[in-house]
Amino acid sequence: MREITHFIDGAAFTGASGRYGDVFNPNTGEVQARVQLATADEVDRAVQSAVRAQQSWALVNPQRRARVMFEFKRLIERDMDALAELLSSEHGKVIADSKGDIQRGLEVIEFACGIPHALKGEYTEGAGPGIDVYSMRQPLGVAAGITPFNFPGMIPMWMFGIAIATGNTFILKPSEKDPTVPVKLAELMMEAGAPEGVLNVIHGDKVAVDAILDHPDIKAVSFVGSSDIAHYVYSRGTAAGKRVQAMGGAKNHGIILPDADLEQATKDIIGAAYGSAGERCMALPVVVPVGKKTADEVRERVLAELETLKVGISTDAAAQYGPVVSAAHKQKISDYIQMGVDEGAELVVDGRGFQLQGYEKGFFIGPSLFDGVKKGMKTYNEEIFGPVLQIARTETFEEALDLPSSHQYGNGVAIFTRNGRAAREFAARVQVGMVGINVPIPVPVAYHTFGGWKRSAFGDVNQHGMEGVRFYTKTKTITARWPEGAVEDSAFVIPTMQ
Ligand code: NAD
Repeated sequence: MREITHFIDGAAFTGASGRYGDVFNPNTGEVQARVQLATADEVDRAVQSAVRAQQSWALVNPQRRARVMFEFKRLIERDMDALAELLSSEHGKVIADSKGDIQRGLEVIEFACGIPHALKGEYTEGAGPGIDVYSMRQPLGVAAGITPFNFPGMIPMWMFGIAIATGNTFILKPSEKDPTVPVKLAELMMEAGAPEGVLNVIHGDKVAVDAILDHPDIKAVSFVGSSDIAHYVYSRGTAAGKRVQAMGGAKNHGIILPDADLEQATKDIIGAAYGSAGERCMALPVVVPVGKKTADEVRERVLAELETLKVGISTDAAAQYGPVVSAAHKQKISDYIQMGVDEGAELVVDGRGFQLQGYEKGFFIGPSLFDGVKKGMKTYNEEIFGPVLQIARTETFEEALDLPSSHQYGNGVAIFTRNGRAAREFAARVQVGMVGINVPIPVPVAYHTFGGWKRSAFGDVNQHGMEGVRFYTKTKTITARWPEGAVEDSAFVIPTMQ
């Protein structure tokens, strides 16, 4: 059986923990590889490699570091087809979606290509007599990233792209469910000219995560995953004195006002709810029509769309989505569907019995639709992370605004309307971090920043864009005096610019 090893000091490193995770082919349900799970000592080995590489990497001028990113971008584009196939074979998303996953990460690499500009400091000439003040951004040292299974290309690149371009070295601990693409990314970084040790990949579970959180030589940790683990990572990492940003789960709402283009809005919601089998933190699993007429029409249109929605294996170019990542996750989604029934929501379409001919052991689940979903139901409060759309009917704009605002998660939200004033008011008042106006999946472009509110993110600083640069650097401010003539006597009071 294929064995997936760690990547330390620019080469494959075979761990000796004797512990492994199964990597499935979600299309067939078979185990296709096993991934080594690291010990704390193996994490330390990766950190020591990153420590050795960091001092000289920080001295490489920003333009040269950017050139590595330019070359990395070229190599990813060269290998895009192979990377997307690998990604699909472990995750289960369709190839076009895997290309999108890699492409969205690549856009952060493109941002990182402009790092010399982003690292320019500030300067004040003549802040006092003969006094100039300037600030510079310096790397933290060694940073680490812990990433989820659902974007094995994009999310590692969000993190290491900016961390490395700003002069840090990096330890990546990808999801153990689909670990191959992250290792390929590290190999490509070496091929692009990054010195050994600048990007190390360590596979593992809680043992590796805890070793990262406790390691004194790791100065910052970026995490993306489910909220309970995000909160744990944030608490333990900050208690150890690290800078931590920890993105969590989501339950995003799509509000449909009565004046919306219902045909377009429904198509958008179908793609955002069921695409990637609903395994996206920016999926739209709750649709909130305002008014009975809107709700009835949206329901009819969704039903019509579901009749032609095609579920297939990840290499089927005609399939809109593929299997979910594991049998355990499929079971969890099925349990949530049953819970919704038990809680009294109307199960309009049940995807639990879905089977794909020839792939009966694959982790497939058909599209499901609930109507009559209400605040207070557990299946509404919690993240299902599967191809399940819930209709939560409302009567007024205020009610529709309240649902996402009072929800425990606050990652993304979308509003569909032709009324600019209503959209503007909604965007200003809603208690959610990323808002789409007639845009179903409002993932901000790479030069803006990504981050939710409430239990969707712990920490103060978002991913990528200038907030990413700030996360991976610390500011140093220098006040310099070059007086002309005699210097005054020592001052015993705090100097001011009087
Ligand atoms: P997960 O929380 O199970 O795993 C994320 C990472 O944490 C993995 O690397 C995993 O190995 C590690 N981990 C798992 N259990 C751990 C434990 N007990 N202690 C320490 N580390 C542990 O998440 P997942 O299932 O891989 O990914 C899906 C989740 O990620 C969803 O909740 C989704 O909403 C969320 N997500 C959020 C964003 C965002 O930006 N907010 C983006 C993508 C995914």
